Amino acid sequence: MSGTGPAPRRRAIRGRLLDFPPEGGHRLRADHLVLVEDGRIARLGPAAELLPTLPPDTPVDAHGDRLVLPGLIDAHIHFPQSQVIASPAEDLLDWLERHTFPAERAFGDPAHAARMASFFLDELLRQGTTTAVVYGSVHAASIEAVLTEARVRRLRLLAGKVMMDRGPEGLRDTVEEGVRESAELIARWHGVDRLGYVISPRFALTSSEAQLAAAGELLAAHPSCWLQTHLAESPGEIEAVRARFPWAPHYTAVYDRFGLLGPRTLLGHCVHLREEEQARLAETGSVAVLCPTSNLFLGSGLVDLGALADRRRPVRLALGTDVGGGSSWSMLRTAATLCDVARLLGRGWSPVDAFRLMTIDNAAALGLADRIGRLEPGFEADLVVLDPAATPAMAHRLERAHGLEDELAVLLRLGDDRAVRCVYVLGEPVAGADLSVRR
Ligand SMILES: [Zn+2]
Repeated sequence: MSGTGPAPRRRAIRGRLLDFPPEGGHRLRADHLVLVEDGRIARLGPAAELLPTLPPDTPVDAHGDRLVLPGLIDAHIHFPQSQVIASPAEDLLDWLERHTFPAERAFGDPAHAARMASFFLDELLRQGTTTAVVYGSVHAASIEAVLTEARVRRLRLLAGKVMMDRGPEGLRDTVEEGVRESAELIARWHGVDRLGYVISPRFALTSSEAQLAAAGELLAAHPSCWLQTHLAESPGEIEAVRARFPWAPHYTAVYDRFGLLGPRTLLGHCVHLREEEQARLAETGSVAVLCPTSNLFLGSGLVDLGALADRRRPVRLALGTDVGGGSSWSMLRTAATLCDVARLLGRGWSPVDAFRLMTIDNAAALGLADRIGRLEPGFEADLVVLDPAATPAMAHRLERAHGLEDELAVLLRLGDDRAVRCVYVLGEPVAGADLSVRR
């Protein structure tokens, strides 16, 4: 084919490219170019080789020695909780009652939801997060708002309204409403542009058995959708689940009974799981989404990722901020906390492991590893430019850095949104401290 159509929209991004190949380890490419055409990575190569071959009017964003990575992925976050973050409580159930449920009641108002959606996506992007898996409130309006805004911004975003027929006053649906509203949202949004729908029974305690069964039927009827819920987050919650579902040998069995486990299923927390529950998650290919800042903030417990990842029956893992139970919007802070928790439990978890989890592993957990999470031709050009010397203390520390592992450790331990210099969505700069980069 020769050029009869319009010229592709091009941009070249120059810097130190870092990604994490599926076979393990990392891949660092100094002074390379990513050439983006119509939102996808068209070519990568050494800047010296590629620059002379670019069409003459191609803009080149030069990021010097900064690291260019695939955009970060947050596998668990609550859209209606952006104003709940940092609200102190006794524990999970107290926090839900006192802070979270009251805030979520406001999301039935489309104008409020729209205003919150704009902030929510601005903040995700400012933190370098280009894809997220999002819980709405019980109101379909919350998902309409966040997906409408995500579509305008051309984001890859997955979201679902929570189903909760046993929820508190003013935040309840019925089995029929939960199914009808979810099905309508699926029909309207799932697979539109880069958006996807996540069937979202909130957790075992906020749904009747009939609603959990209906969620399972919805997933069976829409196998390309995802399903998300919470599992074994806190001791008090597990006690309450035991009392509510006396027939179940353990918490995981409740979801298993209603057909909620499987490779499209994302289970937030998984802090307190017995061996047989972990084995069942591994067997079904279900994903444990770790939310370590939330577990510490609410005093829920320490997630033993070494046990989950046990080589004999590894559970698929992902990582999420869980804002607003989580105490940071930053995936860097979240991953650093995971490293701390792993160390407390005597497990090694390196900075490279942490960056893998935020990029390629989270993409794989969502079944999207063929389009996001790597720097490869054909992949969607959602990118983040990180500056390991973003603050005086970081620059000072880097004077004594020894290699990439050390740089990544500095980014994890001392970095946050200040280290996010530029964020690209489909190859267009949309956020970051550095939007007017040197050309
Ligand atoms: Zn959550």
